Amino acid sequence: MLKGKTALVTGSTSGIGLGLALALAKNGANVMLNGFGDADAAKAEVAAAMTGSGRVAYHGADMSKPAEIEAMVMACQAEFGAVDILVNNAGIQHVANIEDFPAERWDAIIAINLSSAFHTTRLALPGMKSRNWGRVLNIASVHGLVASAQKSAYVAAKHGLVGFTKSAALECAATGITHNAICPGWVLTPLVQKQVDARAAQAGITADEAKRQLLAEKQPSLQFTTPEQLGELAVFMCSTAGDNIRGVAWNVDGGWVAQ
Ligand code: NAD
Repeated sequence: MLKGKTALVTGSTSGIGLGLALALAKNGANVMLNGFGDADAAKAEVAAAMTGSGRVAYHGADMSKPAEIEAMVMACQAEFGAVDILVNNAGIQHVANIEDFPAERWDAIIAINLSSAFHTTRLALPGMKSRNWGRVLNIASVHGLVASAQKSAYVAAKHGLVGFTKSAALECAATGITHNAICPGWVLTPLVQKQVDARAAQAGITADEAKRQLLAEKQPSLQFTTPEQLGELAVFMCSTAGDNIRGVAWNVDGGWVAQ
């Protein structure tokens, strides 16, 4: 379905980003991966999922650094000729009360979880406009719609990302370029595993019990969403069914925000 299209997925060496990259690759897209950690393993996994003539590449840009973001977008365009599908997924978390929140962590979260999406979008849009087709998927969070305590920077960045998505959608409303946010609740990735481990250590409980408690507090389905499910939603939004889906913040949260 996405044969001939190129997807740039930030933060795709693990977790949700890798799930999205795999789904796009399975549907025929070329994929430019990004992120820290084991890039070769991610590249091999995505290459194995590729269908048809799809190809995979990797760029190690740090999403907190605008000059590196620019180099990554240029590299994707040089390698594949375009960025047709832009997935702004890279993100980090820090959990602390505001008065204890390290200023450096605040700045990093705003840069990686919010400002990087502005930079990738502004750099990818001219090419998308020249082809009059594009899909920009911003991986926000239920924390782009509601708040939790001790997550002020993350909640601010994700609310900002949802607002940015709406503004961008309006600017492109009469074009073939759509901008939408996906807002997951709990997904069991390394980012959430850290929170599970911290809760288990703090309360002296097992990791399984900590997982049960996390879900019971917020996610009525009592099930984690999977990266594969988010990948299928991303592919749907890239299909013709998504042509007129514009500026939405689509929660995939087991009922979290319905409460
Ligand atoms: P993860 O830690 O598994 O993956 C994060 C990815 O971002 C990794 O590839 C990492 O290398 C990359 N990354 C981190 N800092 C980077 C930087 N400076 N430059 C480039 N890449 C960087 O986390 P995840 O849970 O898969 O999270 C992915 C996105 O989904 C994040 O934006 C997160 O906020 C969002 N999200 C996650 C959940 C969840 O429950 N896991 C829920 C809602 C939203």
